[in-house]
Amino acid sequence: MTYFHYQDDILHAEQVSIIDIANSVGTPFYCYSANSIIDRYNQLKSAFSGIDCLIAYAMKANSNQAILSLLAKQGAGADIVSLGELERAIKANIPPQKIIFSGVGKSKKELRRALELNVHCFNLESEAELDRLNIIADEMGKIAPVSLRINPNVDAKTHKKITTGTSENKFGISHKDAMRIYEKIANSPNLTAIGIDMHIGSQIIDLEPYDNAFALLKNLVIDLKAKGHRISHIDVGGGLGIAHGQGEKEPDIDAYAKIVRSHLSNLDCTLVLEPGRWLVGNAGILVTKVEYIKHGENKDFVIVNAGMNDLLRPTLYEAHHDILAVEHENGKENMFADIVGPICESGDYLAQSRTLPKAKQGDLLAIMSAGAYGAVMAGTYNSRPRIPEVLVKDNHFEIIRRRQKIEDLIALDSVPSWI
Ligand SMILES: *Cc1c(COP(=O)(O)O)cnc(C)c1O
Repeated sequence: MTYFHYQDDILHAEQVSIIDIANSVGTPFYCYSANSIIDRYNQLKSAFSGIDCLIAYAMKANSNQAILSLLAKQGAGADIVSLGELERAIKANIPPQKIIFSGVGKSKKELRRALELNVHCFNLESEAELDRLNIIADEMGKIAPVSLRINPNVDAKTHKKITTGTSENKFGISHKDAMRIYEKIANSPNLTAIGIDMHIGSQIIDLEPYDNAFALLKNLVIDLKAKGHRISHIDVGGGLGIAHGQGEKEPDIDAYAKIVRSHLSNLDCTLVLEPGRWLVGNAGILVTKVEYIKHGENKDFVIVNAGMNDLLRPTLYEAHHDILAVEHENGKENMFADIVGPICESGDYLAQSRTLPKAKQGDLLAIMSAGAYGAVMAGTYNSRPRIPEVLVKDNHFEIIRRRQKIEDLIALDSVPSWI
């Protein structure tokens, strides 16, 4: 089931015409399909049916309050990486008992607030963090529930900027040190180990790295239990990839669940999943308008009004996003071009060397698969205000983040009186 489709040759999100949204909110904008997200959540839930399992949505993928609230309503928890995400999750009515705190650089303030709220688990990433949390929990008269994030030194076979589970990466603690550090946790009066955690990377398409990593995780759990550590949950992280374009294949959710089950389902532990991209990536698009067509010496450029500040993935990760014309025309001639933004950077492109139906000034284009790591990574470079986000459900849409105003941007600055 795809939630972005043509109806009478016009791209629709569910039953809403993208042209109608553009006329109402202007361009560029992000547009998400609520039913797509709900559908994905249910697919994931059913793939793991029969297992006691917490789906802790990795909200850094898309942390809009409406998206969080929608997932909270389905029963999701949250995997958070900052105080800002913690406060967003709470505001979206995600119970603290369903919140997992990940990240390598948790500050004292962040640890205190998360302890105060009684989050479900702190995923520790270093001994220094362990020490800090033990001291803060002592000061607050609390016992902090923790997991150790294990770095299995497994290559996730994904882009180098989103591989996290090799010894080259800053994440986690080597599996070789795990036993010693669980001993240290057991000897820390204000910590209690409740689980174990692993997250090997993002946009993982080939499932084999998971197979290797979870086999290692299983052995660790068995060893830890044998030494008397009470591991009650196994957090398998996120990372499941999506197809960003036609012809790309997507890992099968049931095959993934099967790998998880085969290694980890008979260890008398509950499971924590931390999916981000897989839940929301294909539930969103970025809609932009063509400003100019420029005929270069070697190639053509389609200059649009969205740029790398709105969607960073193409230039940051060399990511491919399909680009569709919002108005489809049968038998239209193709063009070969770079689709670029207005920003003064050569890295400001949404696609390079792309064949697409011949575009002209004023046309609307849809950058597909932009629901994850899109709006959340946006910035205001070149003093471009953040663009709006729209959520569609069935036959209606609502603005879930308003377009930032230029005055909003300027108002953040102040000029010293001596100038
Ligand atoms: C980013 C992240 C995730 C989610 O990754 P996806 O590829 O979006 O599924 C899960 N867990 C941790 C610890 C992360 O940092």
